[in-house]
Amino acid sequence: MRKRLFIYTTVLLLAGLLCFFAVTLHITRLNNTNIAKDMVQETASNYAALYNPDADLAAFVRTAGHTRITIIAPDGAVLADSRPLDFAPGTNHLDRPEVQAALRGAPAAYMRFSESVGVDFIYYALQVPSGGSYVFVRAAMPVARVDGYLMQSLPILIAVLAVITALCFIFSKHIINRITRPFESVERKLRKLSAGDYSPEQIEGSYEEIDSLTQGIDEISLALQKGITELHEETSKLSYILDNIGDGLIVLDETQSISLINSAAMSIFEVRADIIGRNLNYLSFDGTLQSAVDQCVNQDSSALFELPLNGRIYLVAVKRLADTVLTMVALSDVTENRENAKRREEFFANASHELKTPLTAIKGFNELASINNKDEDLSKYIGSIARETDRMLLLIGDMLKLSELGTTQAISPTEVSLAGVVSEVTEALSPMISEKEIIVEAAGDAVISAEHEHVYELLKNLIENAVRYNNHGGRVTVSMESDNKGSYLFVYDNGIGISPEDQSRIFERFYRVEKSRSQKSGGTGLGLSIIKHICALYNWNLTLKSKLGVGTEISVEF
Ligand code: ADP
Repeated sequence: MRKRLFIYTTVLLLAGLLCFFAVTLHITRLNNTNIAKDMVQETASNYAALYNPDADLAAFVRTAGHTRITIIAPDGAVLADSRPLDFAPGTNHLDRPEVQAALRGAPAAYMRFSESVGVDFIYYALQVPSGGSYVFVRAAMPVARVDGYLMQSLPILIAVLAVITALCFIFSKHIINRITRPFESVERKLRKLSAGDYSPEQIEGSYEEIDSLTQGIDEISLALQKGITELHEETSKLSYILDNIGDGLIVLDETQSISLINSAAMSIFEVRADIIGRNLNYLSFDGTLQSAVDQCVNQDSSALFELPLNGRIYLVAVKRLADTVLTMVALSDVTENRENAKRREEFFANASHELKTPLTAIKGFNELASINNKDEDLSKYIGSIARETDRMLLLIGDMLKLSELGTTQAISPTEVSLAGVVSEVTEALSPMISEKEIIVEAAGDAVISAEHEHVYELLKNLIENAVRYNNHGGRVTVSMESDNKGSYLFVYDNGIGISPEDQSRIFERFYRVEKSRSQKSGGTGLGLSIIKHICALYNWNLTLKSKLGVGTEISVEF
């Protein structure tokens, strides 16, 4: 700033001084010219007064010195000239403006270029009586002489100009320094601010406006300092929290580079170095995580899946953060849960097995007792034992089916016609159907790829529930269809329906809306759990729609 200001003022000052110098020169020259004109006029008047027609004119004009004197006849012929070589012989001078002016009786000085000599001259002529006629006495002086006077004073002028210029330089430098110093202090202050130094500083030699500016800067510094301190506190609080939660947390930016990772996530992926800004691939070469993130980003959705990693199982949630370009990945270690669940499943399966053998024996012995029994009272008890053991065997059967489904690793699918399985199921359930006088309708068909046993279980439980929880004389419709997208099954009934609160719970094991009714009609509370497990095994979509007192629709998208 200072350098520029200095250049501008110097150029301005020099231009001003040069203009002043030029104007002074011009005025001096004009002045000198006027003086010269007066001198020429005076000389012409003197020679006109001294003119004697009988004297030797050549000798008369020779006395002229630096000024040129010309005696011109009325016809314009030169009678005598102090510089006879300055014009061509026989040159007529009558047309010269100064001669014409004298002839008119209004003599005047003229400055013009002398063609004969080749320089500017100042001319002045007077008409002087000569015997019975007249002559013109003309005086002339070269302008170069006027300029000569000027040139004499030029060194003094230049010296004065140089001194003024030097003084101007010194003063302008001093003034510019004074003006720019506070600005430089402000600039220094702002630099300190950007470097994180918020301490207030007094600016020397400042002006009122600069003072209010620095005051403003000080206020901003204080506010900034406060804001940054608060931000630091918040950030350290946040990172403390993030680093102390057991779950791993990663935030990815739009290029899927890591913009935040907490300590738990770093230890899950066994990374130690600073990996902020690195791509997600750096964490795991397993494509599962990458493709889940890709899918969530492309479809603006979320994903939940299990990821085995370094001998542990993690439940991974991937979510696009709304209104941002960020994606959040949360990893929760569910190894213990899975192991506990596995242990529970094993216990469930073992207990069911262990119960089945003595129960089958009780049932056998009870049948033997019923054959050999003649006592009517005892028959009642034997009948009750038979009903309860049947119910318990049914229950154990369902429990075994459930645990089998939970541990099934591989399936051997065949092509199964849904309509075929529906007729097998209605056949098996015919006693129940006819007892309640239910109308069962089957429409359409679809062939799917699955194990027959699983499809049978699915349809048996669905139709059994539609009949069991129906009113006497109710209607059950099983509809099957397929298109190029897949196959679909719908089981409708116009039975008692399920309330919205119960709809979210009926797929839980042993959950029954009305325990007594379910038990009375032979339900185990495991039917829908079995259905859910079968659908999960094949990745089928299970949907429930129901309205209390109107009916229920359960559909499966294969
Ligand atoms: P359950 O052996 O008791 O029928 P489920 O698991 O098959 O066990 O069903 C759980 C509960 O869901 C049932 O007790 C019943 O209350 C309700 N439910 C199931 N299907 C229907 C249906 N079609 N209509 C009304 N309620 C139903």
